[in-house]
Amino acid sequence: MFLKCLDIVGFKSFADKTHIDFADGITSLLGPNGCGKSNIVDSIKWVLGEQSTKTLRAGRMEDVIFNGTDKRKPLQYAEVALTIDNSERNLPTDLTEVEIKRRVFRSGESEYYINKNRCLLKNIRELFFDTGVGKSAYSILEQGKIDQILSQRPEDRRYIFEEAAGISRFKMECNEASKK
Ligand code: ATP
Ligand code: MG
Repeated sequence: MFLKCLDIVGFKSFADKTHIDFADGITSLLGPNGCGKSNIVDSIKWVLGEQSTKTLRAGRMEDVIFNGTDKRKPLQYAEVALTIDNSERNLPTDLTEVEIKRRVFRSGESEYYINKNRCLLKNIRELFFDTGVGKSAYSILEQGKIDQILSQRPEDRRYIFEEAAGISRFKMECNEASKK
C-alpha cells in the first residue's frame, strides 16, 4: 500500500487547487519556513480522520480552512482527497485504488467519502484499522514521536505492537461485543 496522490483545496495555506503525485521511492518536501510543508502532512492526518485540533496545529477545526490574506478572501470550505494504491489489497476492499476524501465547512460540518460515496468517519477508521495508517498509528512519525515511543508507559507502547501485529481490530470487536 502506498500513497499515489493528494488533492487539496482550501486547506490551511493551500487556497488554490493543489495536486501532488507521490512517485516511487521517497518524496521530499522542500521549501522555506512557513511555505506549507507541515500543512501538507496535516492535510494527510486530517483526511485520515484526525479530530484533535492540537495535533492539527489549529485552534478550532474551522482554522484548517484557508482564512484569507491581504489579497485573497477567506474560503468557505476545505477539502482534501488522498488516493492510495491498494494493488496488494492491504486495505480490506477489492479495489486497486482507494480515494478517501474529507470536506469541512465553516459551520463545522464534516463530510467523508470513500471512492466518491458519502460515508461516516467510522468507515474511514475501519478501512485503515490494523494497517498502521490512520489515527494514533505509527505511519506518521513526527519530530519527538520516537522519543515519545521510547519513553511511553509499556501499556501505551503495546498499542503500537498490537496495531503492527494486526490485532487491534479483534480487540475492538471484542470490546464492542462485551458492551452488548
Ligand atoms: P517550517 O519550515 O518552519 O516548519 P512549514 O513549511 O512547515 O515551515 P507550515 O507550518 O506548513 O510551514 O505553514 C505555516 C503557514 O501556513 C503560516 O504562514 C500560516 O499563516 C499558514 N496557515 C496556517 N493555517 C492557515 C489558514 N487557515 N489559512 C491561511 N494560511 C494558513
Ligand atoms: Mg514545518
